[in-house]
Amino acid sequence: MCGIMAYVGEQSAFPILMEGLKKLEYRGYDSAGVAVMSDELRLLKKSGKVNNLEKYAPDDITIGTLGIGHTRWATHGAASDLNAHPHQSMSGRYTLVHNGIIENAAPLKEMMLKHGIVFKSETDTEVLVQLIEWYQMRFQLETQMAVQRALEYIEGSFAIVLFDLHTPDQLFVIRRGSPLVIGIGDDEYIISSDPMPIAPHTDQLIYLEEDILGVFKKGTAPSFVDAQEEMVEQTIEYLSHTYEDVMKEGYDSYMLKEINEQPARIAHMLDRHMGGRANDELLDRLPTIISDIDRIIILGCGSSRHSGLVAEYLMETYARISVEVEYASEFRYKNAMIGPKDLIIGISQSGETADTIAALKIASSSGATTIGIVNGVNSTIARMVDHVLYLHMGQEIGVASTKAFSAQLTALTLISMRIAEIRKTICQEDTDRMLLDLKNVSEHVKTALECADIIESISLDLLESRSIIFLGRGMLYPIALEGALKLKELSYIHAEGFAAGEMKHGPIALLEERMPVIALVNDDCSLEKLMSNVQEMKARKAMIIVIKSSNVTLSAGVADYIVDMPDCPAFLSPIIQSIPLQLLSYYVAKHKGCDVDQPRHLAKSVTVE
Ligand code: GLU
Repeated sequence: MCGIMAYVGEQSAFPILMEGLKKLEYRGYDSAGVAVMSDELRLLKKSGKVNNLEKYAPDDITIGTLGIGHTRWATHGAASDLNAHPHQSMSGRYTLVHNGIIENAAPLKEMMLKHGIVFKSETDTEVLVQLIEWYQMRFQLETQMAVQRALEYIEGSFAIVLFDLHTPDQLFVIRRGSPLVIGIGDDEYIISSDPMPIAPHTDQLIYLEEDILGVFKKGTAPSFVDAQEEMVEQTIEYLSHTYEDVMKEGYDSYMLKEINEQPARIAHMLDRHMGGRANDELLDRLPTIISDIDRIIILGCGSSRHSGLVAEYLMETYARISVEVEYASEFRYKNAMIGPKDLIIGISQSGETADTIAALKIASSSGATTIGIVNGVNSTIARMVDHVLYLHMGQEIGVASTKAFSAQLTALTLISMRIAEIRKTICQEDTDRMLLDLKNVSEHVKTALECADIIESISLDLLESRSIIFLGRGMLYPIALEGALKLKELSYIHAEGFAAGEMKHGPIALLEERMPVIALVNDDCSLEKLMSNVQEMKARKAMIIVIKSSNVTLSAGVADYIVDMPDCPAFLSPIIQSIPLQLLSYYVAKHKGCDVDQPRHLAKSVTVE
């Protein structure tokens, strides 16, 4: 969610900021801005896309070799030019970009208003920059000290880059809760919320620790101080090859590229984890991790929570262990009863999801063991949990998750099978067979992708729909939830997923003639029941679309459309059946003219709670 890009060095800062901000666009944003220092500070802020900035930039903006840039995802105040970052203190001395949210902005603003401070925007960020100046002026502090003092009073999360007109050749950087990475080049520093925009410049990175203030000046080694003004060191790490520079590779969107790369990516991930080539070793340590565990709690938001719900079915069925799945955003406020015998699994594509981070912090402080399942290498969650399992799927750019979701399902299936093996709840012969089936799942995913043409033709029949229902039972129920979420995210058509058996307890009242009902069918024990539910919808003149394993035979006339998926063991059907649903939401959105990579109002990594 939102992005920061800052530069200090020998080169012209503006093009570097623009290139970096464009690389951060996938995270989702509504406005953008830069401040570049040359003979004077040039400030440029616009609502809308990063490209807008280029249109309005004065020619001589390229002279400056220091600058800060931002893409904003509004939390306080509309997405307007005025609310876009950077923000400045009243005297103009300080200029700042901020990612995150200042929860106590209102009382702080009220306090400063009483002291005559004048605000220009509605943002919480302006409160932060004004507070820094307020401390500086009131106590005549050095900037470093003023920042640390001001931040003592801040509740919420932030990653900030601050520019001080009195020291125009350096940048101040600090974070708490939101990510920030510093690239160390030859005589230059590149600061960003994400390593990707840094990758073209250098492979040396510092993942700044929380509450450590870094000062960066061209030609000088960086300095880091903690809240007590003590000098500290920060570790330099090397950018791994997983941060390839992502291109669309001929596809019309990142989403379609990412959907199509799933077979290869899943095969690669399984090879790493099942072939022992992963660098996270979670699976090796699993016997010790679960040796004294009574219960597993899975935390996630959106699609990540849906993959957790599939894992609940898998783990309870095969590993016979009690599993609860929680919305991370609810878990942190529910006074959960957790303790050392609980294993908490936090799932997050980016590894930066603020709600999941906060929930995991609570879990850790209650003595529970924590596991993170993330795609974002070295992300906040990866660093904070006891054990991490990486999805190794490469950067996901499309805002609505596709490959990261199927990877989460695959990883959770693998973990479930391993727990079953360790707990000996299924016989070794069955475990071996299931693990072998899992190893081949990428082949089934590849076959599933062949349904693209039929899905595209079905999508044309859905463009005018006002509402679409997704149904599943058992482990396909969470996939129905995911299908509905994906469709609404991308096409803005209202969609709901239901456990098929629940329809007659209320939602069936929604049915209108030709309302699309998409039923997910595999050949598990609930097949008959699910088909009865579908018949009930058909009797009420719904348009029935059945997505089914090819070994399931349907009675004639029950469905308007049938999409066959490869015949595979039922425990793999959540992975397989999520493929046609991704394609469906892609095609519906595309034919409705929606932006499939950057749906409205959404952000890729949700770094505010
Ligand atoms: N809370 C700040 C704002 O609304 C920053 C949001 C962001 O992270 O982009 O301006």
